[in-house]
Amino acid sequence: MTDKVVVITGGSRGIGRATALAAAARGYRIVVGYASNQAAANEVVAAIEARNGKAIAVKCDVGSEQDILALFKAADAFGTLGALVNNAGIVGKSGVRVDEMSAERIQQMMAVNVTGSILCAREAVKRMSTRHGGEGGVIVNLSSVAARLGAPNTYVDYAASKGAIDSFTIGLGYEVANEGIRVAGIRPGLIDTDIHAAGGEPDRAHRLAHMVPMKRVGTADEIANAIVWLISDEASYVTSAILDVSGGR
Ligand code: NAP
Repeated sequence: MTDKVVVITGGSRGIGRATALAAAARGYRIVVGYASNQAAANEVVAAIEARNGKAIAVKCDVGSEQDILALFKAADAFGTLGALVNNAGIVGKSGVRVDEMSAERIQQMMAVNVTGSILCAREAVKRMSTRHGGEGGVIVNLSSVAARLGAPNTYVDYAASKGAIDSFTIGLGYEVANEGIRVAGIRPGLIDTDIHAAGGEPDRAHRLAHMVPMKRVGTADEIANAIVWLISDEASYVTSAILDVSGGR
């Protein structure tokens, strides 16, 4: 397994970047997907290559089916697909109530966080399922504790998109369980990445840290460690399961 390709959407920054580095350190060949920050993606590839790992960067906005097809085409040329990490995700502006949300905002949220993840999984299943002549593999979907908490007065649309990811993880896991593919989800808690700035509140994770039973934010590496475990054969009996990595939140 460890000589196989791992496709990571949104691998250029945050949790995706940490996962790319952690998986490369275990020997996987990494496809670093990115939406627009080519410099960040190239930096991840350079960091992996500096440690004698193998990686390529591929531009892929998961809101575009064409980009997703191109991502998997590039992955095919790089080796045999062993795992997909459906990591790319967005938040809208924080603090917007549902009765203030535009249709465009909600549609963009679902297009990237939900449809993008399902389409990437479709392409991965076509390649990895024994039903299609593949050798099996793993899909890890990034959810959020927001799926449980609902994120009221913050971003309910984001929470709903992650609730959809949880259902998708369970359902797809059952669908391909007998075809060599395991599907698992991770629900991160408050993790110190750029996503909070994207929601207009750079300090959000630290501001809310006191609400976490462990009284601190988590790091991208702590999520990456759980993801690489789920990908590994050490998690060989784990499927349709969702793991909270949230300091107890
Ligand atoms: P981040 O630091 O904001 O990084 C986002 C990554 O996703 C970047 O690599 C970005 O690419 C990429 N991306 C953004 N929009 C994209 C699109 N339309 N298509 C493809 N890639 C796109 O995010 P993060 O905090 O690491 O979050 C990663 C995942 O964990 C997300 O699914 C998020 O919902 C989930 N999560 C995060 C937290 C947290 O507290 N951080 C908590 C729970 C769940 P560019 O570099 O090209 O912009």
